Amino acid sequence: MAPSEVPNADLHCHSTVSDGTLAPEALAARARANGVQLWALTDHDEVGGLHRAAAAAAREGLDFLTGVEISVTFAGETVHIVGLGFDADDAGIVDGLRATRGGRGRRAQEMSDGLARAGIRGAYEGALKFVGNPELISRTHFARFLVETGVCRDTPEVFRKYLTEGRPGYVPHRWAALGDAVRWITGAGGVAVIAHPGRYRFSPTEEYALCTEFKTHGGRGVEVVTGSHTPSEYGKYADMALEFDLAASRGSDFHSPEESRIDLGKLPPLSDSLTPVWTLLEHRIQRAR
Ligand code: AMP
Ligand code: MN
Ligand code: MN
Ligand code: MN
Repeated sequence: MAPSEVPNADLHCHSTVSDGTLAPEALAARARANGVQLWALTDHDEVGGLHRAAAAAAREGLDFLTGVEISVTFAGETVHIVGLGFDADDAGIVDGLRATRGGRGRRAQEMSDGLARAGIRGAYEGALKFVGNPELISRTHFARFLVETGVCRDTPEVFRKYLTEGRPGYVPHRWAALGDAVRWITGAGGVAVIAHPGRYRFSPTEEYALCTEFKTHGGRGVEVVTGSHTPSEYGKYADMALEFDLAASRGSDFHSPEESRIDLGKLPPLSDSLTPVWTLLEHRIQRAR
């Protein structure tokens, strides 16, 4: 891929190292089969899959950026910050992410207790069967258990009925601070990106605060075209990128062939009016050839 061409970039997806169902190698093969040219693996709060992903990308002929999706608490909501093109062995980001992962085990036990009070037994052990990384038990793994046991038809139904605020399996959790997450990424040479802004239940004032504080901490990008946005949101968040002078990212947020609506590489292109985030990262791309 020559640097001047517009690549089919997919800069957001998950492997078995967090809550995806495919190994990094299988994701790389699927990305290539779907026409992806520039790929990043962005597991939740974990960089443990990146060396495998980089090696697989090289074998598949994909240009590669390191990635991560960090869980942050901002204005009482969980916000996700994607990091791209950082040094995956940098001690600051590795230690910060380890601390972020730390509360997941206890939270999962409490989620299981809440589900037991609603009559669903054995959810912790059931969810664990779907976990690829013992430090990264997530709500997605509980959702898979509740689908497997026939309690719900699909994972969106599980989240609606059991795993969101006010529901029996929901446990509030305090994640990383916004400034820390951005600094772990930038301190390791990467670019920080606000993930799927359309997913947050923010007022316009809170959304403005997120963008301005994110920029103050050194954040430089926002996801515009993502599997988590509707087509009308592509336009809305393109406007946000232009208003706040943020580079734009594109990524499917692919988790699983069975669960994900949008496959790797299967998204519309970014509008020409936007600055693609990878143009800030030319020096960090691991080129296949
Ligand atoms: P956690 O980090 O444990 O809070 O889990 C968050 C993950 O749950 C997200 O990354 C998504 O993969 C998944 N998720 C969140 N909301 C939904 C939903 N409404 N439907 C399906 N999956 C969801
Ligand atoms: Mn996820
Ligand atoms: Mn996310
Ligand atoms: Mn994601």
